[in-house]
Amino acid sequence: MSGDVSLLMANGRRSERQWRGPTADPGESTVSLPPLVEPAAELTVDEIRRYSRHLIIPDVGVEGQKRLKNARVLCVGAGGLGSPALMYLAAAGVGTLGIIDFDTVDESNLQRQIIHGVSDVGRSKAESAAASIREINPLVNVEIHNTALDRENVREIFSRYDLIVDGTDNFATRYMVNDAAVLLGKPYVWGSIYRFDGQASVFWAEHGPCYRCLYPEPPPPGMVPSCAEGGVLGVLCASIGSIQVNEAIKLLTGIGEPLVGRLMVYDALEMEYRKIKVRKDPNCALCGENPTVTDLLEDYEDFCGAVSVEAQEATVDSTITASELKEWQDADKDIFLVDVREPAEYEIVRIPGSHLIPKGEILSGEALSKLPQDKQIVLHCKSGVRSAEALAALKAAGFSDAVHVQGGVLSWVKQIDPSLPTY
Ligand SMILES: [Zn+2]
Repeated sequence: MSGDVSLLMANGRRSERQWRGPTADPGESTVSLPPLVEPAAELTVDEIRRYSRHLIIPDVGVEGQKRLKNARVLCVGAGGLGSPALMYLAAAGVGTLGIIDFDTVDESNLQRQIIHGVSDVGRSKAESAAASIREINPLVNVEIHNTALDRENVREIFSRYDLIVDGTDNFATRYMVNDAAVLLGKPYVWGSIYRFDGQASVFWAEHGPCYRCLYPEPPPPGMVPSCAEGGVLGVLCASIGSIQVNEAIKLLTGIGEPLVGRLMVYDALEMEYRKIKVRKDPNCALCGENPTVTDLLEDYEDFCGAVSVEAQEATVDSTITASELKEWQDADKDIFLVDVREPAEYEIVRIPGSHLIPKGEILSGEALSKLPQDKQIVLHCKSGVRSAEALAALKAAGFSDAVHVQGGVLSWVKQIDPSLPTY
């Protein structure tokens, strides 16, 4: 699973929330909460030896370590955030760790997903993460959920755990995690990462806001790039993942002041941490006074919308496959192939004959004069989402016969030239 994707927009790296919750303002208020977990009966001699550096911290002590031993924590995603989170939760002695991930380890994961290694490429992420955890701490009981989280299984899986750590990389899953947690009354620790920017908070509707209080609506489709599109500094995962574990330990043992009602915003380039107060929204559709969302949504993908309505309409009868593009090229059809990705992506891999014109230049109208009027325009991006947005703009500007390539570069590599790299 990959990164949030968040809130953080490319225009102006100093991300502010571009689509925002109504109630955030600067300031600070903290709240102490009782421990989430009762202590286990005892620690073994082995455990006392292993956890001695915890035991001699007065605030943790034997009592706190016994609580960790008794704790059941689920990590959603064993990717960028899940990797450091699971490793430190395991090392800390959390008694039972659940891992849910349906994905397999890819070479491009290894730059940041440090729970996996070279020999794990192609292996299930959940299995790979479980193996690493056993190596770090064999006293941890690992529960593997090698499946995608969905509305059919989320309640049943969440109900088995005291606390959820959200390491998801997409808005559909993020809203589902939030909704399920609120409906079940579970606290969860949320984190998100993008390029050099990270955010973290604890959402627990019984004591503070939920994710929907902060972000009532998902961002417009195509507005917020994913880490797969925009990239993420590998070590940022450790910065945010460790904050999530820190908050998890505090909640489980009842020490310190958890990030309930506060949003931690981290800027790795400025090396700056800021805390923003987030209030519970009385009008929140989920945890507000008159909720309209009283059950899980039917379709979270639909709620978040992979592409906008305009883009969907533009692609009808104006979509070709990578194989068709190859046929057109081989037949010397008079086309003008436009790659709407960013220059850094173009450097990594490109479809032969493509001209780089980033999506932003097409949407702003700036690039329209660069496009030939006498050729058919063929747009593509990495996966087909951005090119669909660009296609809608081109059609609106009068390029009525423009088309886009379904699946973009990824399909080209798969169908036409598997020797090319993907990212
Ligand atoms: Zn809420």
